[in-house]
Amino acid sequence: MYQGDNGELKYQVITFGCQMNEHDSEHIAGVLEGIGYTSADHQDDADIIVLNTCCVRETAENKVFGLLGRLGKQKKQKPGLILCLGGCMSQQEHMGSRIKERFRYVDVVFGTHNIHQLPDLIEQAKAERRQVIEVWPDSRGVVEDVPARRQQGVRAWVSITYGCNNYCTYCIVPYVRGRERSRTPESIISEVITLGREGYKDITLLGQNVNSYGKDQTGGMDFADLLSAVNDVDGVERIRFMTSHPRDFCDKLVGAVAKLPKVCEHIHLPFQAGSNNILRLMNRGYTREYYLELVDKIKSAVPDVALTTDIMVGFPGETDADFADTMDLVQRVEFDNAFTFIYNKRQGTPAARMDDQVPAEIKSARIQELIKLQSGITLRRNGADMGKVLECLVEGPSRTNKDLMGARTRTGKIVIYRGASEQTGMPLPLRITGYSLTHLNGELLPEK
Ligand code: SF4
Repeated sequence: MYQGDNGELKYQVITFGCQMNEHDSEHIAGVLEGIGYTSADHQDDADIIVLNTCCVRETAENKVFGLLGRLGKQKKQKPGLILCLGGCMSQQEHMGSRIKERFRYVDVVFGTHNIHQLPDLIEQAKAERRQVIEVWPDSRGVVEDVPARRQQGVRAWVSITYGCNNYCTYCIVPYVRGRERSRTPESIISEVITLGREGYKDITLLGQNVNSYGKDQTGGMDFADLLSAVNDVDGVERIRFMTSHPRDFCDKLVGAVAKLPKVCEHIHLPFQAGSNNILRLMNRGYTREYYLELVDKIKSAVPDVALTTDIMVGFPGETDADFADTMDLVQRVEFDNAFTFIYNKRQGTPAARMDDQVPAEIKSARIQELIKLQSGITLRRNGADMGKVLECLVEGPSRTNKDLMGARTRTGKIVIYRGASEQTGMPLPLRITGYSLTHLNGELLPEK
């Protein structure tokens, strides 16, 4: 046990990036609680601050550097403060020396593969009064049984794979998260059983590409088999998964989503670009025709499905005609929602070295056009739920108005309604009475 002068040590974890990182932060918090720290309400109260970083975009990295500068000032006023830097930024080869040069006051630098070592690294930094850098370049397998401090509520994330083998040409993830590794079905099911017993009802299976789950194991389950096994766990009422790679979304998986009652009718299926030329340059491994055919299959097998996606504009070489293909695909599929991004160079990726980078003003005009189109479709899709009675799982008081409650449909949409906090965790039928771009409004059905 690591004990401070007052006997009560507090931590704060600051997370940047995606849901994988959010979930890693739950593990970081779990590891720190395992050595006696408790969560700090405010940054000023923390004895240890961990930045769990993202390097997918340079803007995220710059935010971290800015924050490190401010934390350096905080540490001057509170010399006992321990600062740790982890996550994807630390995994980049050049980062260790950069931190050493510019941020000597950071006590511990660790990576995405060795979160479990954090207690030892903190102890070493304290004992030796020096900066400790320990970043495993690869995973050395999957480390199981790292404790997690999950957010309270009804939803929980469970990692099923780590890393990625796809090497999309714009993406840094395979370089910092390593080759794809699947957890064993036994360890995943055991974690889901525990979550079901603890009252978590809505489980999201996480990985960079969940659809290729099990391909690195011999004779084990594939992703459809895994969904089926998770579907059998008592206490769990809803199962979701992300992210799916279209190329690996096989017919067996479409059938499993259609057949398994707990698997929700919501699929996040990034398509990135609607032009075959750009898809090829991105190394995405599918064509627009393949993607549209897959969407048709999913829609006919799962009639009320909500589809969401990621779309990138301004990839090197993207012409007006390529962008028109993207707009056309958006119109054809009618996504319920989309995360839209402007392509920005990411040092260390093949796309950063490509000629024909698209000028900033063209990228900006294209994304505005895309957002306008998608917003109209999202509103229309949300409006189509008006008057319907939908099965909703109550998640707790609304984040924006504590007098109201928030619930979620099986399709992943938030429904705000007037109810009571005792309803948290209950499945309730709600009639949809209003809609906006971000959520639906609903009401309880009158008691009979
Ligand atoms: S599938 Fe492509 S975009 Fe997704 S993490 Fe892997 S390399 Fe990156």
